[in-house]
Amino acid sequence: MMAADSGVSVLENEDKSPKIPEKKKTEFDVVIIGAGPSGYTAGIYCSRAGYDTLILSGILPGGQLVNTTEVENYPGFEKGIMGPDLMIEMRKQTQRMGTTIIDDEAVDVDFRSSTFKILTGSEEYEGRAVIIATGANPRKLGLEGEKTFAGKGVSYCATCDGPFFRNQELIVVGGGDSAIEEATFLTKFATRVHLVHRRKELRASKVMQERAFNNEKIKFHWDSEVINIKGDQKMQQAVIKNIKTNEETALDVGGLFVAIGHQPNTKLFKNQIDLDDEDYIILKNKTQTNIEGVFAAGDVHDRTYRQAITAAGFGCMAAIDVDKYLTENS
Ligand code: NAP
Repeated sequence: MMAADSGVSVLENEDKSPKIPEKKKTEFDVVIIGAGPSGYTAGIYCSRAGYDTLILSGILPGGQLVNTTEVENYPGFEKGIMGPDLMIEMRKQTQRMGTTIIDDEAVDVDFRSSTFKILTGSEEYEGRAVIIATGANPRKLGLEGEKTFAGKGVSYCATCDGPFFRNQELIVVGGGDSAIEEATFLTKFATRVHLVHRRKELRASKVMQERAFNNEKIKFHWDSEVINIKGDQKMQQAVIKNIKTNEETALDVGGLFVAIGHQPNTKLFKNQIDLDDEDYIILKNKTQTNIEGVFAAGDVHDRTYRQAITAAGFGCMAAIDVDKYLTENS
């Protein structure tokens, strides 16, 4: 029975002996860096396999799905689920399996010794195996105005910022699923959404393309790039250029959403883990990196599929590979 039901104060039963500060646990069988679908799935599998598992989730747990609207293609949710809600469910499930989750960011790693070290600002954690599941971040256009007006009109997350732009004209840059999804979502708030894409064909899936083509609020600007973002306190205008005709057009818009893909989060591992020419982790043997005992899962190595479900699948694969590695090396 819980103390609250017994009629005896919890404080009356409290141990009055001097408190020795509890030493923070820092040694684990497995340390997972990152808490998107791959990190959480890896946590679930590692903990269920009996390994003492830590997830260092970073300061924004949940990965890219936290910035997504409705997810219709993750199995198990007949009516779809909002991205942030899906990540909350995954986190709760992972914790229920016994994984320790710490919302702190890894700032350095040392994979040179047999026990791997992962440092945050305040702690040093050790793992007998590591799974890198740090995902990827939105790519930038590289324009001066992009920095000047970041948070003042320029955004990388329609879900987060869309409602701030009611009854305004907006721009979305990109031609992939993200751009089309964001443009479609933003039509809920905007009077018009200008989709600016550098080619004449979209990269997005056909079903999403059709949805956008049928949406009267979306205007497509093909073969075009944003070359300037202007404003005062907030952005007020973007200049786009048709790269075939060199024609420049000024669009008076209140916001510009950049949706041009992602950069894998691998800076931390650069001198220790082999990366390809776009900084994605190179897998050497199944999910294992160039270092035995260090594995990678999800968008941090996957430039092809990049779906929540494939990221989760890779998390599962990495955990199974960790199990094999720890069994053979204990
Ligand atoms: P993506 O598929 O890589 O598309 C990036 C888009 O941005 C491309 O159209 C690309 O043009 C354009 N681009 C890249 N660099 C640019 C630059 N410097 N200036 C202007 N345009 C630039 O990225 P994504 O749309 O973020 O999608 C990533 C993955 O997530 C994909 O596998 C996608 O299927 C998936 N996803 C799925 C859903 C869903 O199913 N609900 C939603 C979002 C994303 P080019 O086409 O000319 O290369």
